[in-house]
Amino acid sequence: MIGASLNAARRAAELESLAGGEAVDVVVVGGGISGAGVALDAASRGLSVALLERRDLAFGTSRWSSKLVHGGLRYLERGEWGLAWESARERERLMSTIAPHLVRPLPFVIPLGAGIGAAKSAKTQIGLRIGDGLRIGARTSRRVLPPARRISALEARRLAPALSGDGLRAALLSWDGQLEDDARLVVAVARSAAALGARILTYAGVTAVGADGVAAVDELTGAAFSVRARRVVVATGVWAGELSPSVALRPSRGSHLLVPAGRLGDPRAAVNVPVPGERGRWVFALPRADGLVAIGLTDVPADGPIPDVPTPSPEEETALLEQASAALEVSLGPGDVCGRYAGLRPLLADEGAAATADLSRRHAVIDDDGVLTLVGGKLTTYRAMAQDVVDRLTDRPCVTHRLPLAGAPGAPPATPPRLARRYGAEAVAVAAAGSLEPVAPGVPICEAELRWAVEQELALTAEDLLERRTRAGLVPEWREAALPAAARMAPWSWSPSPSGTSATSAS
Ligand SMILES: Cc1cc2nc3c(=O)[nH]c(=O)nc-3n(C[C@H](O)[C@H](O)[C@H](O)COP(=O)(O)OP(=O)(O)OC[C@H]3O[C@@H](n4cnc5c(N)ncnc54)[C@H](O)[C@@H]3O)c2cc1C
Repeated sequence: MIGASLNAARRAAELESLAGGEAVDVVVVGGGISGAGVALDAASRGLSVALLERRDLAFGTSRWSSKLVHGGLRYLERGEWGLAWESARERERLMSTIAPHLVRPLPFVIPLGAGIGAAKSAKTQIGLRIGDGLRIGARTSRRVLPPARRISALEARRLAPALSGDGLRAALLSWDGQLEDDARLVVAVARSAAALGARILTYAGVTAVGADGVAAVDELTGAAFSVRARRVVVATGVWAGELSPSVALRPSRGSHLLVPAGRLGDPRAAVNVPVPGERGRWVFALPRADGLVAIGLTDVPADGPIPDVPTPSPEEETALLEQASAALEVSLGPGDVCGRYAGLRPLLADEGAAATADLSRRHAVIDDDGVLTLVGGKLTTYRAMAQDVVDRLTDRPCVTHRLPLAGAPGAPPATPPRLARRYGAEAVAVAAAGSLEPVAPGVPICEAELRWAVEQELALTAEDLLERRTRAGLVPEWREAALPAAARMAPWSWSPSPSGTSATSAS
């Protein structure tokens, strides 16, 4: 599919017509993967749609994930067969039809060393075999994701050179899907929705929802407006409780550290090791295509006000470095960390019981007098979640399982690798948008990406360009070096004022 051209001019025109009284079938609140997924599903069934996002596309949790497209292996451990099957089936759809340009196979090594005894090793192998069964059931070819197998210690260390050889008997090798970038998936879904007519308004914060529409504020000008709609869907992630009083959430934080891949011998496979003394928790080191390795993942309560941008605590950082180093030949320290990020999982505080329900695996759709709130779930299953919601709005059949996103199936040969990985079939047009030279020495981003993001992907501010379209912001050094180029290109400068309103100016 060709993505729509989303930019400041289109936003202004669409905002004017909606604020002027034009009614739509569905208003979606929230521009993370859940909201973008609902907008695409609804638009592709012929409904008129407006999506309102308080900040930018992928502003929330959707950019802070581990960037995996899971086949559901982790759910098997808890006996959640339905969820595991749904994940395997959605993974297949993403990798074969919907976004093959953004999802690639990633090998995982589980070292069989001192930390994994014979019983745990046998149990893990059974799990991997069942995972293979799900892969076959979902019709994912072994050429895309090869079956799991046992490998020698030598082979394991060839794939992950920093793996500790201490007591290493052998290893298990399995495969899963890895996203190039979670924020790029959100942008691709939103632009695909826009290509089918959806209105995508960023910097449009919703202040109240009702059965017949929403009240909102244009965060760029401070002007209040309302949008009339037949149905309203709230998909504001961990902020769901702000608009849907019956949804009470208690988030938990998951943090990642980024280290240069060279420090770990440029691994070709992820390493996955159980955290000693913690049942069911694993720490992983995931090689990324940008020369970094992501080390994760923590799970700590994050009570109190929900921050715009969560950050890992020093204790989480120490724990991750220690847990990863225990499995490696190198001892990682704070000086190895070149970036860090954290995301919040929504935990639903169950009204009746004091217990909490973990919505980070399952999604829920809550109906509050006609306003539907979608909360929880996974990036991997965003399409199925959106289908579940839109099935409640219309009888027209869902088509998103066979709808390629903007950029699918992929770039032609000889496209610059970074552009091919991030833009797929649109990479040629991106390359034609500007210079392909890095915007600053050592920063893997070119001017053409910035220009494309402003003209086609609704990047309005320098922050949109750095933090969500190009992800320069993942490494503070890159962010700082790229900031002058981004600031020159951005049509707006924007910053939240202490009072909660926004201070803006057109550049
Ligand atoms: C640490 C971590 C790792 C994860 N790793 C993976 C993984 O590897 N694979 C996977 O499949 N899943 C993963 N997940 C799960 C996945 O990231 C989330 O399920 C998903 O991103 C949630 O998306 P969302 O759209 O529901 O919420 P969000 O992405 O948070 O989007 C909500 C949006 O609503 C906007 N908003 C809030 N209030 C308003 C308002 N009043 N008006 C307008 N807009 C508003 C926000 O600005 C935000 O952009 C992970 C989650 C965490 C926390």
